[in-house]
Amino acid sequence: MMQVPFYNFTKLHNQEFQDEILKRFSMIIQENSYSNPDAYYNKNFEQQFAEMQKAKHCVLVANGTDALELSLEVLGIGPGDRVGIPGITFYATAEAVLNRGAIPVMIDVNPKTGLISPESLNRILKKVYLKAIIPVHIYGMPAPIDELESICNHRNIKIVEDGAQAHGTILSDDHPVGSGQNLTTFSFYPTKNIGAFGDAGAILTQDDEIAKKIISLRNHGRSAKGIEFFGRNSRCDHMQAAVIHLKLQYFSEHNKRRREVAQAYIKELQSETTNGNISIPAENFINTSSWHLFPTLVKNKETKLSLKSFLEQKGISTSLFYERSMLEEKPLKDMQGENTHAGLFAERVLCLPIHPCLLDQEIELVASSVKNFFKTI
Ligand SMILES: *Cc1c(COP(=O)(O)O)cnc(C)c1O
Repeated sequence: MMQVPFYNFTKLHNQEFQDEILKRFSMIIQENSYSNPDAYYNKNFEQQFAEMQKAKHCVLVANGTDALELSLEVLGIGPGDRVGIPGITFYATAEAVLNRGAIPVMIDVNPKTGLISPESLNRILKKVYLKAIIPVHIYGMPAPIDELESICNHRNIKIVEDGAQAHGTILSDDHPVGSGQNLTTFSFYPTKNIGAFGDAGAILTQDDEIAKKIISLRNHGRSAKGIEFFGRNSRCDHMQAAVIHLKLQYFSEHNKRRREVAQAYIKELQSETTNGNISIPAENFINTSSWHLFPTLVKNKETKLSLKSFLEQKGISTSLFYERSMLEEKPLKDMQGENTHAGLFAERVLCLPIHPCLLDQEIELVASSVKNFFKTI
């Protein structure tokens, strides 16, 4: 039986890729340069990634959660401050706020897309003062940044964009995520659109002073003059930088394939969307999403779980990203916020496999299996 795994790293890291990586690792071993943030692949990656996302600076850090924490820190967000986050995201968005000693406030989402809802933010701002918000470009779709800025900028509410799933995502008018005025964070966790062999993250900014401060904070608060700030260790090591630097070479080809997979699913599953069995949140974002994930919304939780096990029996793995909204996660249960649509979204969402190595016959098997499931119930 054909097996369709959710990710396929074996195919991604093929012989050609391995050969080049081993060359790079042996160069690093010969150079004895392992964790210097100014090492060759670190600097070169920072330059290229900033260029790609049209940002002035890219600062590599240890992971995507640190990238969020450091961004909040340089913006002066700390103990007791309230920070708005969407109800649908990976838990790390909330965790970064908590680790700053700040308090997450959950903002509801657009019922169709799962993206942060500006209307919900407006309602929440009538009741609570937020010092910052973290819109998330969830699944790779662009969050409504223009609308959020028109709510936040004149009130001096800071915005940090969580782009952990949005490498190559396009905001309005062809501007890539990271090209605007907000600090934007990325993760290079192995499953992301650009994945390390472990952990890495980055912050993009247009601001020289902010970039300089993060460069110091990530390396124990050091500057040329010695220790200047209360810093931490959030360096990205040279090995990881060498891996994500190599992945940049394949990046546009990989994201293009993700888009083709998405297009094929949308076409194949058209019948199931017209008869109301599923909906496809990112359908209108075909050319702007990074297609990190392919979420579908099934009519209810029970049907979603039977579809999941039906596909499992056909050798197809799917994921429940995300099974619970943020207000339903244990550490956040008693916090403030709105959860109406986020709660429903989490009940209904099921992600189908999407990755650059997915073959046409695998896409067909997934789509025909989904259709067969709805014929049987
Ligand atoms: C992966 C992810 C993070 C955290 O990144 P790490 O590198 O795992 O720390 C944060 N936010 C979102 C939305 C993510 O998907």
